[in-house]
Amino acid sequence: MEYDHILIRYGEIGLKGKNKNKFITRLQENIQYKLKDFPKIKVKRTQGRMFVLLNGQNPAPILERCRHIFGISSLSLAFKVENDVNKIEKATLSILENSKNTKSFKVAVKRANKNFPIPSQEMNHVLGSYLLKNTSNYAVDVHNPDLEIKVEIREEATYITTETVQGAGGLPVGTGGKTLLLLSGGIDSPVAGYLAMKRGVELEMIHFHSPPFTSERAKQKVLDLTKALTVYGKSINVHIIPFTKLQQEINRVIPNEYTMTVMRRVMLRISEIVCRNESILSMTTGENLGQVASQTMESMHTINEVTNYPILRPLIAMDKEEIIDIAKKINTYPISIRPYEDCCTIFIPKSPKTNPKREKVNDMEKHNDFSTFINEAVKNREVIHISDIDSVEEEMDRLL
Ligand code: ATP
Ligand code: MG
Repeated sequence: MEYDHILIRYGEIGLKGKNKNKFITRLQENIQYKLKDFPKIKVKRTQGRMFVLLNGQNPAPILERCRHIFGISSLSLAFKVENDVNKIEKATLSILENSKNTKSFKVAVKRANKNFPIPSQEMNHVLGSYLLKNTSNYAVDVHNPDLEIKVEIREEATYITTETVQGAGGLPVGTGGKTLLLLSGGIDSPVAGYLAMKRGVELEMIHFHSPPFTSERAKQKVLDLTKALTVYGKSINVHIIPFTKLQQEINRVIPNEYTMTVMRRVMLRISEIVCRNESILSMTTGENLGQVASQTMESMHTINEVTNYPILRPLIAMDKEEIIDIAKKINTYPISIRPYEDCCTIFIPKSPKTNPKREKVNDMEKHNDFSTFINEAVKNREVIHISDIDSVEEEMDRLL
């Protein structure tokens, strides 16, 4: 018997009350989108589940794509049979006989279709006895079987599965609006973007670039990081902001230990304008409490003063090790650790203020509020469209 379906379980979105349909429709669209170059397959919905009909396609690459789609809690290869005891028996027998290294098994029936005449528990016995009677070298082990044969009896058919693969979890991208990710070339911000996407949020990127102090390579790194993140969603626009003049002006008029604070405030002001232009309702950063001078409580209090847009900080309470683990898992790590010049480190003093006061900074900005420079930077931004890729692994082979 050949597997003919992939069964998709979507866990959390099943709990969304009235919005449930919107979430499920988006998940179905996202799956269809990611599988668009497999023209033979179909993505179908039934009560509480989704299925990919394989129509003879090799399931391995399809399963691999689906593992990166947010909103899927788990996946299994499945056989579809009619709701007929005899056919179900024969299918389970074929699965058992074809499974390798199996000495013990267990049958777990779930009867979602109450019109099917045999209740779950009784059906477990029917199938278990049938399998024992028709084979000679297997034993039943309900606690620790080598093979668990799961039988889901549904309205339209019965689906039989064995192994379950963990899905990406989270919510379907596109159900949570859009955020503007402040993307540097570091390790943290791409991970923050990935975690925002995991909660169903689409990304648009903003990057502050200071040529000639930061090179084309630094910009390319940001584009490559963006490309790596498209695997979890669709194409992404990157706004490259020319930041040199602003940094020079800040350095000229602001006392040394406050330049970092003011520069961050300016970044947020520019980001807010871009958000407004693009109808984006929040920003996201890779900030992490206590990691560097700009990420103390006092710094955040003073930097955050310039905007009342929500700022998502998915990494705020994580340890660096946890962040690096995710960066490795999503393949952004090797791009992030390429050497590059950071616009911040070049202009930033050796010991920036870790507790800048709002009143003090407001006072400094009173006569130099940088508005003209800010508007010019926004006007001269370059918007680069990064189209999506199907597999991070493929792309990494090309990039590294
Ligand atoms: P990362 O690893 O993301 O660079 P970091 O720990 O180095 O983070 P900072 O350099 O203090 O921390 O930056 C904090 C956050 O500010 C970054 O996570 C990012 O969201 C944003 N940021 C910093 N520099 C830039 C930049 N040049 N362009 C866009 N966003 C930036
Ligand atoms: Mg950085």
